[in-house]
Amino acid sequence: MEWAEDYHERAWRTARRALAIMLRLELSPTPRNFALFCAYVGGSDAALVKAVDQAMAMPGGLTDTACAKLHQAHLHGLEAEELRTASARMEKALRQAFAAIGTASDGAGRYGRALSRFTGGLSQREEDLPDLAPLLEESEEMVQANRALQEQLVASSAEILRLRQDMDALRREAATDPLTGIANRRSFDEAMGSAIRQENAAPGGLSLLMVDIDHFKAFNDSWGHQMGDQVLKLVARVLVDCIREGDLPARFGGEEFAVLLPGARLSQAVEIAEAIRSAVAEKKVINRRTGQDLGQVSLSVGVAEYRPDETAEQLIERADRVLYLAKRDGRNRVMADTADLAAAGS
Ligand code: GH3
Ligand code: MG
Ligand code: MG
Repeated sequence: MEWAEDYHERAWRTARRALAIMLRLELSPTPRNFALFCAYVGGSDAALVKAVDQAMAMPGGLTDTACAKLHQAHLHGLEAEELRTASARMEKALRQAFAAIGTASDGAGRYGRALSRFTGGLSQREEDLPDLAPLLEESEEMVQANRALQEQLVASSAEILRLRQDMDALRREAATDPLTGIANRRSFDEAMGSAIRQENAAPGGLSLLMVDIDHFKAFNDSWGHQMGDQVLKLVARVLVDCIREGDLPARFGGEEFAVLLPGARLSQAVEIAEAIRSAVAEKKVINRRTGQDLGQVSLSVGVAEYRPDETAEQLIERADRVLYLAKRDGRNRVMADTADLAAAGS
């Protein structure tokens, strides 16, 4: 029981102190920063503690960038994913312990009942009882202790679940573009990396759309940046509405979006791109506050299908190149890198 109490209290203390430091230094609430400060507060890695202390003493103080370097150097780039599996393992271990204790407590209960039947049977022979009574008491205590331990473990388990949910929320936040709510560049790059690895291991088609808003500078100039932001949100919503399950839309940067389409050949990717383009072109942009009609916006889209063994950068570059051609040919259009098909021999 003490173990469980100590354990979850210590875990919570560490988590709270880590978050407190992050808040005080106004660092971003990323899983990496959280992992770094949990390790710092934990104090078992003297080199890490020293490096963090030194960085804190620097004139500029501890920044997100410095934290990223410290994380890389001392936690060997331990990823949020690993944090998640670590906490999942912890939770599983607790569940198992909980199940084991449950069985033990059942066992003790049975033991107690059997013993009491036995002593009941012996009650005619009074002289035998004095030796057995303490045993009975002891097993009753055992049942009580197990029950308390069980309750304690349930509580710890719930707190660990909550901690994991907090961590999940932090991770989601770190992967999301705050304006549009879709994936940010960082998580897009990660998803692209793993989609490419998967595609090379088991080819099934992988396509990419690069999407850019047409004459967006002019839109901002006419209607203001805030209205521009509304358009970015609108485009993100259309992307989400037009894609299939398993596709990943992301804000690539500024007014550019990227959509990763695993399992899609070029022709299917073009269909999806066309659906996105026409959905945006059909929409009227209205200033919700004033009701003013701000006209229409359009998109240009470049589409490319992944070629075996090319890098993420090469795929992006090809999609970008045809996006540029779509712009040059008048905008509000989809252009596919069909040289791709010839190269792939299909
Ligand atoms: P093109 O059709 O060639 O793409 O023309 P464009 O005006 O869209 O392209 P340009 O690259 O000249 O301008 C992009 C504009 O996007 C400039 C910038 O003000 C705007 N932009 C980038 N990020 C944001 C943002 O987060 N919010 C808003 N409102 N505008 C943004
Ligand atoms: Mg652009
Ligand atoms: Mg643009």
